[in-house]
Amino acid sequence: MRFSFTLDATDGAARTGRIDTPRGAIRTPAFMPVGTAATVKAMLPEQVAETGADILLGNTYHLMLRPGAERVARLGGLHRFMNWDRPILTDSGGFQVMSLADLRKLTEEGVTFRSHVDGSKHVLTPERSMEIQRLLGSDIVMCFDECPALPATEERVAEAMRLSMRWAERSREAFGDRPGHALFGIQQGGVTRALREESAEALKSIGFEGYAIGGLAVGEGQEAMFGVLDYAPAMLPEDRPRYLMGVGKPDDILGAVKRGVDMMDCVLPTRSGRTGQAWTRRGQVNLRNARHAEDPRPLDEGCTCPACRGYSRAYLHHVVRAGEMIAGMLLTAHNLQYYQDLMAGMRGAIAEGRFAAFEADFHALRAEGDIERL
Ligand SMILES: [Zn+2]
Repeated sequence: MRFSFTLDATDGAARTGRIDTPRGAIRTPAFMPVGTAATVKAMLPEQVAETGADILLGNTYHLMLRPGAERVARLGGLHRFMNWDRPILTDSGGFQVMSLADLRKLTEEGVTFRSHVDGSKHVLTPERSMEIQRLLGSDIVMCFDECPALPATEERVAEAMRLSMRWAERSREAFGDRPGHALFGIQQGGVTRALREESAEALKSIGFEGYAIGGLAVGEGQEAMFGVLDYAPAMLPEDRPRYLMGVGKPDDILGAVKRGVDMMDCVLPTRSGRTGQAWTRRGQVNLRNARHAEDPRPLDEGCTCPACRGYSRAYLHHVVRAGEMIAGMLLTAHNLQYYQDLMAGMRGAIAEGRFAAFEADFHALRAEGDIERL
């Protein structure tokens, strides 16, 4: 069975469809929970699947340093290692080398750096990134790219984009012929339309199974991001999935889907779940807040997650304040459920041609804010 993408319906620029892989289908628009170090923190894989997630994201940078790609391969690959049999997408390591590693040295060949874990020296090139992602057994592999730290001059953004396009060609070459697995190219170019166009043309001439929009959600703000998303998705092939990397808050996700994005990932629902923050249909709720201390109501009575089915706001408040592990477990489960429910809601709305009404309801309920205090 090969990797394929089927577009089922569109509503304006918004799209819904399905990616088929030998490890199962991915319904789009799809949100990918982040399983950085071979775990979605505080969640069992079966719980992640129960929320409706069809695919997880794994981080090449973290896994190459610990436990190491060769070790994961000897233990049967990442799916078996972490007990997740559905599709996995891995990033290329490029972004995290630039944001986490020490003593980086960037050349045409690749990046030399020291591990933030133990100081050991490593080299990441397009070829090595492809090898690591193959050893992990990733279903969707990302090209090795350079994302310049912002703020950066347009000249610097252009230089990084052109290097990334040369690396995309080397990534394609090194990936080889692997039926059932996909390689995605990554569009760069910051917030400059001409650079985005140049990048899209370079990627299309190489040819990929899917295309990512990179270099956004790096501090430019929602307005600037939506400004790029007003034109960038349409520069990419209509018959291939489009993946917006590292996004985002629920309203970012809705705005991206509205503009033609099919896939997204973000640490936000899991990370904020570990700091007492919940995302609901009525916006963000801080469970540390004293107003919840004697509130017997669930976080969201319309939610089917374990936290909302079995526990009160008062209990969640207590375990967050007490620093109990179950706080992170319950709030992560809730946040991932909310994100997947949002994706399912958007897929249904696009299929039925009522995305605009869905969007209006989404904003209206959030504008009301959290339920009245008791
Ligand atoms: Zn819930």
